[in-house]
Parts: sequence; C-alpha cells; structure tokens
Amino acid sequence: MKRIYFDHNATTPLAPEVLAAMMPYLTEEYGNASSIHAYGQNAREAVEQARSSVAALLGARAAEVMFTSGGTESSNHAIFGAVAAAPGKSKHVITSAIEHVAILDPCRALAKSGIDLTILPVDCDGLVNPEDVRRAILSETVLITIMLANNETGTIEPIEEIGKIAAEKGIVFHSDAVQAAGKIPIDVDKLGVNLLSISAHKFNGPKGVGALYVRKGTHLGPLMYGGHSERDRRPGTEDVAAIAGMGKAAELALAHLKDESERTGGLRDRLEQGLLDRVPQSWVNSARAPRAPNTSNMTFPFIEGESMVIALDLKGIACSTGAACSSGALEPSHVLMALGLAPEDARATLRLSLGRQTTEGEIDFALETIPQVIERLRQLSPVYKKPAIA
Ligand code: PLP
Repeated sequence: MKRIYFDHNATTPLAPEVLAAMMPYLTEEYGNASSIHAYGQNAREAVEQARSSVAALLGARAAEVMFTSGGTESSNHAIFGAVAAAPGKSKHVITSAIEHVAILDPCRALAKSGIDLTILPVDCDGLVNPEDVRRAILSETVLITIMLANNETGTIEPIEEIGKIAAEKGIVFHSDAVQAAGKIPIDVDKLGVNLLSISAHKFNGPKGVGALYVRKGTHLGPLMYGGHSERDRRPGTEDVAAIAGMGKAAELALAHLKDESERTGGLRDRLEQGLLDRVPQSWVNSARAPRAPNTSNMTFPFIEGESMVIALDLKGIACSTGAACSSGALEPSHVLMALGLAPEDARATLRLSLGRQTTEGEIDFALETIPQVIERLRQLSPVYKKPAIA
C-alpha cells in the first residue's frame, strides 16, 4: 500500500545528509566535547560548527545559541530561567491562549507558585493583537512569551510588533519558534526577541536535540545544576552526534528555505482548494491569517477527527486531528477553541502538514481519497445534515 505522510508538524524524517553528518560521532569520533585530547577536540569542533550553522538559521551569533534536548526544554528553560533571574518579589508573565503545552504548562506551574499570569485571547483567525499585549503589561511584568508559528493552524503571530512593545518597556521577550524554523525566515534582531526556542526534529534533524537562542545580556537562570557545559547554563555531556545532526539540518533548512516554502505552499494551497471544492460544508481554519506554508487545518463537520485519522490511516494517509487525548477523553483542541470553534467542530478537524518529501502525486492521491473517506463517515453519522440542493 502507498503510504503518505502528512504529519510533518508532529515530526519530520531525518534527511540522509543529516544521518551522514551524525554517523562519525556515533562511531569512531566518540570523544567527550569537554575532553582536551584529540578525541575531545574533534567532538568540540563538531559542536561549535553546528552552533554556527544554527546561529546562521536564526540570524544570531554563535555564542548566543545554547543546545538543549528539544523544544520543550528550550521553552521551559526560557520561562523558568527568565522569571527566576528577574529582580523583585511580585512577578507577572504574559502568554497567549494558543501556545503549545510546552509554554502553557510551565506558565501554569509558575502561576501555581504565586506568579501572576495573563493568558491573552486571539481573534477568530488565531492572531494575538499586539495592543492586547501592551494593555496587559504591568509594572511587575517580567516575561512575555508568544509563539512565532502555531503548530495546529500554522498562524504566524505578529512577533515583530510585540517585540517592539517588549523592548520599549524593557521586558524579556521569548518566542516558541519550533514550528517556524525551516519554514519561514527567522531573524532574531528583526523579531526583537531575547529568547527563542527551536527543535531539530521539526526540520529534518534528529529527535531529542534543540536550541535556545539567548540574546547577549539577557538574564537567565539555570534549569538544571551539575556541570559547566553550554557556558555554565546547561550541564550534562553534549550529545555530539545529535548536535552535529542539528547543525546539518539547519544548513539544509537555510539553503532550501525559499524554494521549499514556495513549493510546499503551492502544494498546500492546491490540497486545501481541492478539498474545499470536493467536500461540502468544509472550511480552512485561520485562512485569512499569514500561515506557515506547509500547514493546513480543516474542519469537516458532522464527523469525529479521530475516526477520520483512523480511516485515512487505513488508506495510507497519516495526519492528525484537532483533538488531544487528555485523561482518557478526547478533548477539543485548546487552539481551535480559542479561535471560537464549537467543540463539535473542533473535534471534526484535521491537521494536514506537508514537508520536504511531499509530491504532487501525493496531493492527487489525497484529493481522491480524503473526500471519499469523509463522505463514507458522514453517511454513518447520525448528526449529518446534507446541504439542501439550490
Ligand atoms: N512547541 C511547539 C509549537 C511544538 O509544535 C512542539 C512539538 O510538537 C514543541 C514546542 C515541543 O518540541 P519538542 O518535541 O522538541 O520537545
């Protein structure tokens, strides 16, 4: 059976060039990057080369890039580290309702420990209003954290405008750019961020490695204690192979950024239009907002997203839903709820996320298969109402 992968926002395949870049450090070059002998120096060289490549992807200086275990750690470190390092007793943090749980959960943990937290709403396209950020700022505000591109809808947030407001008020500004890296250009100076999180496995790199950009002069406390690596900020022996892989993935992402975003954007638009034409009463979420070019989030009312994902998987198409399993029950996505969707519509939503290996032929196959699967499931649905024929 032909198998098609439309779940690149969950993770991406490792690029062959990345695997090749990692191999020496999984085999003969096994030195510890902190050792002073030749083995160690070779490992150190690989880490520093990767740091420069990641910095180039972000428009940053190499010294401002800290390697971590991935997006979740980068954002936890940014949030807990910035709040801990901020002076004063009463502290306030601003975030948005559509953030990934890697942001929302640390913020909620801070709130439990007595930090004041504001979670800003978004408009019906999933955009944060920078003026809402300005209005939410208090004299105690120590951190603003708003994502660059949303993982479910692809919405690109007005980070540059928010960055200007944060800089005006002298507040540390973090952005979760996990879903933006490799899909849209990132320039940390233009965005005006102090801190920015990325993760290698979202751009054809290995899992379990990420980076946190830390602007020079930003006060950031440690997340862990136990050694001197990463300028005393992140202890533990570096995973040299993973870091070398991330460096190669960053190089490839930067080299192909323009072509790939145009190519996947064209494929995504054809997929969306084709599904809108073929599936009555369907719509695209966040359609009017600027979006990451690879991401489509579509609602097909009257059916459960989970049934669609299972039925599509049986036909060879891998994608995901607008629902998350929480304590054994299917909860509608908090992102779609924040956009104002009804819970049953949020549950009737699919996320289709394309990537570097997606082809025109796969889009043709999806346009043939997805409407058939939806029609069959709708016929079985007790709540399905066929549109009246005009
Ligand atoms: N932030 C966003 C927006 C994500 O989509 C993800 C992964 O799904 C993460 C953070 C977490 O990244 P990681 O899997 O590297 O921990």
